[in-house]
Amino acid sequence: MEGSSAQLVLLPGDGIGPEIAAAARDLLTVLGGVEIAERAIGGASIDAHGSALTDEVLEACRGADAVLLCAVGGPKWDSTDPDAPRPEQGLLGLRKGLGLFANLRPVRPAEALLDASPLRRERIEGTDLLVVRELTGGIYFGDSGREGDRAHDDCAYTVAEVERIARVAFNAAATRPGAAEGTAKVTSVDKANVLETSRLWRETVERVAADEFAEVALEHIYVDNAAMQLVTRPADFDVIVTENLFGDILSDEAAMLTGSLGMLPSASLGDDGPGLFEPVHGSAPDIAGHGVANPLATFLSVAMMLRHGLGRPDDAARIESAVDAALDDGLRTPDLARGAEGEIHVGTPEMTAGVLDRLR
Ligand code: NAD
Repeated sequence: MEGSSAQLVLLPGDGIGPEIAAAARDLLTVLGGVEIAERAIGGASIDAHGSALTDEVLEACRGADAVLLCAVGGPKWDSTDPDAPRPEQGLLGLRKGLGLFANLRPVRPAEALLDASPLRRERIEGTDLLVVRELTGGIYFGDSGREGDRAHDDCAYTVAEVERIARVAFNAAATRPGAAEGTAKVTSVDKANVLETSRLWRETVERVAADEFAEVALEHIYVDNAAMQLVTRPADFDVIVTENLFGDILSDEAAMLTGSLGMLPSASLGDDGPGLFEPVHGSAPDIAGHGVANPLATFLSVAMMLRHGLGRPDDAARIESAVDAALDDGLRTPDLARGAEGEIHVGTPEMTAGVLDRLR
């Protein structure tokens, strides 16, 4: 992408989305090399066009080098009418439309925030894990319906779907810092004692490991055990790979290790084409419009975009260092504030300026 500007589609969405999109725009303007086209998604798109994702927006995303999404949803569009358009359809449509089958969520609590975590410092110190979640299969995409007083949501996986997500996880483990010292490990999470899809999952992950990634250690644990281990010994995990529903839940649990949902970035990748980069948190309607949303998860998502989508790892590292420096100097949005000595309480614009000032 050297020389010419990368084409970015920015999707602010709903709630705090537009506030943190403005912050991301400021950051990208300082970094340069990116041309930004802004489009509506989620509730904003429902209001403007009657659907959460229009064909025109999906096409614009397909033609871009990367897509940055902030958040969708809010009480305004909540409805129990199964035929009413829902904001999340925008997100699911984008994942499906761009063939994004792998969601990567790194969890590495910043040193300055170790005491902001609900867990004790000694529990989380040294935590540096990556959750790799399958994104286009399983129960979220299976047949669903209602017949009278009964409802169903089917969960299905194919061998090919499990193989490709397993490869993403093993490749990530093999290339993470620390892999050179022989510490690369994948923990595959399933419920193979109960679910047939999990037995297929486990068999397939084991075969991919044996045939293609002998240098990476592999362990299997049940999802209920994983939920416990994540809060009792998070530093022991390296890469966690799991199916869609389990990954949705476990990655939010892992997010809390960092002290706030406002700190956690994510990347969704396909075989080729643009990746989708977004903070893990939702649209936070409870604080929307107050100018206090934490923009750091979005900044770290921009860093993932520069690293995984636009081939600019040095600029990604610059953002990550600036975020660390702002936190080290005490800057705290309300979600991060604990009333400790040295904290400087700020809103979104001040946190944004604080990170921009520390970019080197
Ligand atoms: P949420 O992540 O929006 O908020 C949970 C809590 O975390 C709230 O108290 C909120 O104020 C806080 N929070 C989240 N992000 C923050 C930030 N950047 N800075 C400071 N505080 C932050 O989850 P929710 O309340 O369950 O959902 C709200 C809406 O968001 C719903 O409509 C839901 O469907 C939607 N949602 C969207 C996405 C997405 O767009 N990817 C993800 C999850 C939820």
